[in-house]
Amino acid sequence: MKAVALTEGQVEAYDLIVVGAGPAGLCFVRALEGCGLNTAVIERLPRSMIADPPVDGRDIALTHRSERILRDLDIWRHIPVEEVSFIRHAKVINGDSSYALHFDHRETGKDYLGSMVANYPIRRAAFAALQEISGVELIDERSVVGSGGNGEAVWATLDDGRSLRAPLLVAADSRFSETRRRFGIAARMRDFGRSCIVCRMDHDEGHGDTAFECFHYGRTLATLPLAGRRSSVVITLPSDDAADVMAMNEEAFNRDVAVRFAQRLGSMRLVGKRHIYPLVAVYADRFYGRRFALIGDAAVGMHPVTAHGFNLGLRGAAKLADEIRAARLKDADIGAARGLRRYHLAHDRVARPIYLGTNMLDGLYTDDRQPARFARSALLHLGNMLHPARQAIMRQLTDKAV
Ligand SMILES: Cc1cc2nc3c(=O)[nH]c(=O)nc-3n(C[C@H](O)[C@H](O)[C@H](O)COP(=O)(O)OP(=O)(O)OC[C@H]3O[C@@H](n4cnc5c(N)ncnc54)[C@H](O)[C@@H]3O)c2cc1C
Repeated sequence: MKAVALTEGQVEAYDLIVVGAGPAGLCFVRALEGCGLNTAVIERLPRSMIADPPVDGRDIALTHRSERILRDLDIWRHIPVEEVSFIRHAKVINGDSSYALHFDHRETGKDYLGSMVANYPIRRAAFAALQEISGVELIDERSVVGSGGNGEAVWATLDDGRSLRAPLLVAADSRFSETRRRFGIAARMRDFGRSCIVCRMDHDEGHGDTAFECFHYGRTLATLPLAGRRSSVVITLPSDDAADVMAMNEEAFNRDVAVRFAQRLGSMRLVGKRHIYPLVAVYADRFYGRRFALIGDAAVGMHPVTAHGFNLGLRGAAKLADEIRAARLKDADIGAARGLRRYHLAHDRVARPIYLGTNMLDGLYTDDRQPARFARSALLHLGNMLHPARQAIMRQLTDKAV
């Protein structure tokens, strides 16, 4: 942690500094409504892009809990209804087999397993909801270049020379968080050596509100149901092959996806652009430091295969906001270690099994050697037979036991 020596007079004082106005940072700040905090949000993007983010190809599968949190935060009502679709069934397929592990919403007593919203409307809605509360200053087109702290306060220096101080600084600046490193918190990173191509495709056959996860040999192909005969397509493959797939002309790409998908959705046609992401998962050693906390991908950056990244980020952000609210109600210090540690423990308890389980799943289903192929197939059959295991996964999606 690089300390910046400053005298009191030079520093602008806030109650809270948040680095990163991505979905996690914005939702977190919105969750602090009514706490009476004077908050600075520092974001390197311009305000216009935060207010109206570009399409980034990510379609986010939301659990019932996430939907509820977004409703509670008055963010959900800023998402146009036509941007929301529903997953009622999920099928997991191994290799070339037509056998599927099937999750069915009717077994949960809920109308759907999860909802789908693209990332950019979530960001746009979170920013719109933030405009409705007072006490938040967005400092856009700025990055933190120095920071430090002592027992009483933490401070941040921006690239325009401004300096801010507050009792607490929260980093929501992505899985490659510079702030995390600056505060001396190590993170375990797993580079899968693979990339993920995402896009939207129209198709001739209806998807029946079904999400498919096809663990083919060599690459995985997932489709998530959008409104009408349209799906979000996620292709995970070795990074070398990803460049070739990105370079394919549209016609060849359409044909390739439809064939690999065994024509389940008939002919398929690309809508808009393809987007590519490197697959790197990150888990911070701790989610807090002295007067410092990590949220969102800066705390836990998930492999997207189980669609948990934002769901976890939102849950963690809500938990940290609860701790801060509780401290404010008692007129206590919001940056005190005890509250931050409680957040860390609670979030770690939820996130760690999901993170490890997801990485294990990815490891097994991208291992094409014969024993793994056998284990993959056996696991799917077992999953269908083991009612409690399937129920547990569906409970987690639909929030039933909570
Ligand atoms: C292909 C794909 C599919 C996904 N699907 C799902 C899904 O179905 N369900 C799900 O729950 N999750 C999903 N995710 C994960 C989800 O998109 C992320 O978890 C979520 O976007 C993380 O939000 P964040 O705010 O923590 O980070 P980010 O979205 O990375 O935002 C970080 C922000 O911080 C800013 N920033 C960075 N550094 C600085 C700095 N030094 N100073 C100032 N600002 C800075 C950035 O400009 C950015 O605005 C998916 C991810 C991918 C890649």
